[in-house]
Amino acid sequence: KYQTMALNLKDYVASYPDFPEPGVFFRDISPLLENGEAYKQATNEIVDYAKKIGAEVIVGPEARGFIVGCPVAYELGIGFAPARKKGKLPGKTVKETYGLEYGQSALYLHEDAIKQGQKVLVTDDLLATGGTLAATIKLIEDLGGVVVGTAFLVELTKLHGRDKLKGYDILSLMKY
Ligand code: AMP
Repeated sequence: KYQTMALNLKDYVASYPDFPEPGVFFRDISPLLENGEAYKQATNEIVDYAKKIGAEVIVGPEARGFIVGCPVAYELGIGFAPARKKGKLPGKTVKETYGLEYGQSALYLHEDAIKQGQKVLVTDDLLATGGTLAATIKLIEDLGGVVVGTAFLVELTKLHGRDKLKGYDILSLMKY
């Protein structure tokens, strides 16, 4: 019987030393996104996970969290709420400031994006220090949402992002 072989997703991640600044080893998911089969395979794995944990809505931080989360939301027929940077959301928002592997930032979520008790899956392209995800989780919980899982294409294990996400379930498709 003919069966399609699963792709090795790591073949679709490009690496750039010292980007965007010295000392950062940047893992770029552009090749994965540009390959329809690889993007679909990664998305399908997260769709299966989202079903398993019973996600009712997906939240992703700007901008690559959208790229990972939106096709999953579409496939499941559930909503997607973007966690955005300063000055992007027109309605009433909650705000969370956080530190990055490089720099500092703040994220915002529309107050009415999440309903009390709603089960939320959080998506991003990459888990580094976990600061971005911890901030996104805080926004969701401020609005009464329940984070039932987090999903990433890539996890940089040496940066110990998992330690910041203690108590939360984590799916990472590739580990470095
Ligand atoms: P963090 O808050 O440290 O977990 O950083 C996660 C966010 O920063 C992710 O949304 C990534 O897009 C980006 N990022 C941080 N470090 C890297 C890296 N080494 N390679 C690629 N993206 C990174």
